[in-house]
Amino acid sequence: MSDPRTITIIGAGLAGTLLATLLAQRGWTVEVFERRGDPRMHGYAGGRSINLALAERGLHALRQAGADLGVMQQAVMMRGRMVHPLGGTPELQRYGRDDSEVIWSINRGELNIVLIEAAEAAGATLHFDRRLEDVDFAAGTMRVLGEGHDERRAFDTLVGADGAGSTLRARMMRMQDLGERTEWLDHGYKELEIPPGPGGAFRIEPNALHIWPRGHYMCIALPNDERTFTVTLFMPHEGPYPSFATVDDGPAARALFEAQFADAVPLIPMLEEDYERNPTGMLGTLYLDRWHLDGRAVLLGDAAHAMVPFHGQGMNCAFEDCVALADRLAPGVEFADAYAAFAAERMPDAAAIQHMALENYIEMRDRVDDHDYRLQRALELL
Ligand code: FAD
Repeated sequence: MSDPRTITIIGAGLAGTLLATLLAQRGWTVEVFERRGDPRMHGYAGGRSINLALAERGLHALRQAGADLGVMQQAVMMRGRMVHPLGGTPELQRYGRDDSEVIWSINRGELNIVLIEAAEAAGATLHFDRRLEDVDFAAGTMRVLGEGHDERRAFDTLVGADGAGSTLRARMMRMQDLGERTEWLDHGYKELEIPPGPGGAFRIEPNALHIWPRGHYMCIALPNDERTFTVTLFMPHEGPYPSFATVDDGPAARALFEAQFADAVPLIPMLEEDYERNPTGMLGTLYLDRWHLDGRAVLLGDAAHAMVPFHGQGMNCAFEDCVALADRLAPGVEFADAYAAFAAERMPDAAAIQHMALENYIEMRDRVDDHDYRLQRALELL
């Protein structure tokens, strides 16, 4: 039995497209509105972390949608952490006994395109260059803007998969206090790139997550299938050297790398340019007391529980949300009941993962005087 109601999803990012696929496969009419252009036509305009660690939790969710094979074609296996000590030889610490216990590096843009195609193949309708601007919950309408486009549309129910800065969440807050609070970290991040080496080969061991732990700051590097690595430098925004306040231009970044990440310097030919051109990202944890507004709207993924990336689990957790919500949405269900049950199931799990990610960060920050301890904690992060 199909249900005549339409589920309208805001955001065709990672969670929005996976949820659209799962719901369309279950027979729902699904409409998705995405503020950016179609990445298959315009290239991916992500703006945030270029690649992501995909773990078994996320992979399990992708399997439910039949999207795992397309995703895994683009993924690079990471068997463990390759630790680069200061002045020492890199050493691989395996995640498990063999290659059945590994994580995967996946490019955010490629992953998004695979999921967009899966959603369309399942029957969902995606509208690009369509930004949710406002919602009139009393009238059951929303205002959607785009290039030369300004439209008011009716909806049956809304799902907010529009990320940490969710517009839908802000509009829900006008109707009901969701108990929103965000705790920002005093660390930020900057992305750099290791290009392919001579002959197009990977410049360092591809099947590992590389870490240069240095206590209250560190670098990591994840492989991409086009044989590059995305390097992420995590460092305090303010404070004594090194911080983004003191390392404030390309030459200062080179000096920091030559002193602290010497083996990475020859790998990053555009170090100064990348450092000055790429933005410094903010990191925070979003807490909500409620994820839904009766049957009219519900939030999931980063819109509900953005977290710091020190466990690499934000996307994995968002994918688990999608399966849990789709499982609650049987045809004929009261949306309010489904959303309440979904939130009751997922809020404790999301809170636990947020806490674990933050705990690692806080312990690392607060014990900056204990070098051995800092080193050990930094290694446990990923
Ligand atoms: P998003 O991916 O942010 O997607 C939201 C979508 O909504 C976007 O497409 C956006 O354009 C669209 N949108 C926004 N506003 C509107 C609007 N008003 N109207 C219409 N569309 C709108 N997670 C992992 O699991 N593993 C990792 O290794 C990992 N590493 C990370 C590293 C860093 C530095 C950061 C910052 C995060 C990392 N994460 C990682 C977390 C992961 O990026 C997020 O948890 C994940 O992207 C959440 O997916 P989402 O679909 O909820 O939100």
